[in-house]
Amino acid sequence: MDTHQGSFDVIVIGGGAAGMMAAGQAARRKKRVLIIEKNRTFGEKLKLTGNGRCNITNAEFEPGAFLEHYGTGKEFLFSPFAQFGVKDSFSFFESIGLPLVVQAGSRVFPASERATDVVLALRKHLEKAGVECKTGCAVRRLVHQDRLVTGVETDVGVLCAKSFILATGGLSHPETGSTGDGFLWLKELGHSITHPAPSVVPLEVSDEWVKMLRGVSLPIMKITFFLDGKKQFSKAGTVLFTHFGLSGPLILNSASKVKDLLQNGQVTAQIDAFPDTDLGALDRNAVSVFDSNKNKTLKTVLKDIAPPGTSSGVQTLLADIDLDSKVHSISKEDRKRIVSLLKALPVTITGLMGYDRAVVSDGGVSLSEIDTRTMRSKLFSNLYIVGDLLNVSRSSGGFSLQLCWTTGYVAGNCA
Ligand SMILES: Cc1cc2nc3c(=O)[nH]c(=O)nc-3n(C[C@H](O)[C@H](O)[C@H](O)COP(=O)(O)OP(=O)(O)OC[C@H]3O[C@@H](n4cnc5c(N)ncnc54)[C@H](O)[C@@H]3O)c2cc1C
Repeated sequence: MDTHQGSFDVIVIGGGAAGMMAAGQAARRKKRVLIIEKNRTFGEKLKLTGNGRCNITNAEFEPGAFLEHYGTGKEFLFSPFAQFGVKDSFSFFESIGLPLVVQAGSRVFPASERATDVVLALRKHLEKAGVECKTGCAVRRLVHQDRLVTGVETDVGVLCAKSFILATGGLSHPETGSTGDGFLWLKELGHSITHPAPSVVPLEVSDEWVKMLRGVSLPIMKITFFLDGKKQFSKAGTVLFTHFGLSGPLILNSASKVKDLLQNGQVTAQIDAFPDTDLGALDRNAVSVFDSNKNKTLKTVLKDIAPPGTSSGVQTLLADIDLDSKVHSISKEDRKRIVSLLKALPVTITGLMGYDRAVVSDGGVSLSEIDTRTMRSKLFSNLYIVGDLLNVSRSSGGFSLQLCWTTGYVAGNCA
């Protein structure tokens, strides 16, 4: 027998970060709330975040500076963030038994560093607040009449409520349940949807040396991107080599600019593995390493001058030098070439990875069609739209989840 009968004050569709936040907040206001999730469990994507550690927000406490990370969404988000900002996230998670810690500058994680603990804490919060939960139940469409949503059609019939909060997420990692259903329904309701495209996403490259180094990361490096050989922009930080190309926070945050470049020509990059050391100093170091290992092969000694874990990849870029030669027989020119290579490792970017690898997909519902104070649709007065459904570009670093906590809270508070 279906226990979720009768009419609800609020139905939340989607049990991800934004949906759980919204449902809990609405129930705290003594509303009768039902949350519907098509997976058997809540927060499948949340469990993947921050490599399983969940970068839950960012410890930038100055609201203006925080909002700079949302591109043109900044102005729209001013009001929601005034209602629930970063400090409120700290207090909220503390209040539900999940203390947070600041790491690596400003990234914020649960103290346990387990994303599954975030899901667990939110689940308990929903229970405590009295939210009725329906999992393993897909919503098929929204039923509407006269600019009001009247119900949601599900496998177990139509469920009705006074208000609806749509939190079905974007399109990245569709295996977690985010398959873009909400975009289709909103389009049908007359909302304008900017076509979602992967934006915070790893880069695909054609270079074998990069793929050989899969699993290796370079913690301090600088990457410079070129369009048709002309320098475009540089970023410094950590790069992670993968079996398809390059990843890591710095790469993810470059993807959107690289996407634009790719539309205009050939995109290449150079990785400076020693950004804090100039060519002269690097060469002097090579001379000293070569001098103390005169009778060893270049292949062996390369391990001492290339960054840890990278020498096998670097070797493949030195195909015309005999790696089995003893170091004392390496010419000055070849030594200088090796050193220069370490300051400009060549990469050819072939594209961006797809939704399956994306952390964030750009696009979504136009912000001009949503009331900034309440997250309510301007077309349907009892429909609220939150989280990854919104067309807000953002950096990686906890900004996506903070958007979910903020918009989820505001919708839950107003619905
Ligand atoms: C690998 C990865 C790592 C990430 N790491 C971080 C990070 O560390 N920090 C950060 O800030 N952001 C991170 N993000 C982004 C962040 O995870 C998302 O912004 C956030 O989870 C979006 O939450 P949401 O509630 O809007 O949508 P989702 O989490 O996508 O939830 C939507 C839910 O709706 C359900 N649903 C969909 N359609 C239906 C339907 N028809 N009926 C019923 N239910 C439905 C889905 O099953 C899903 O559970 C990461 C993303 C990925 C993919």
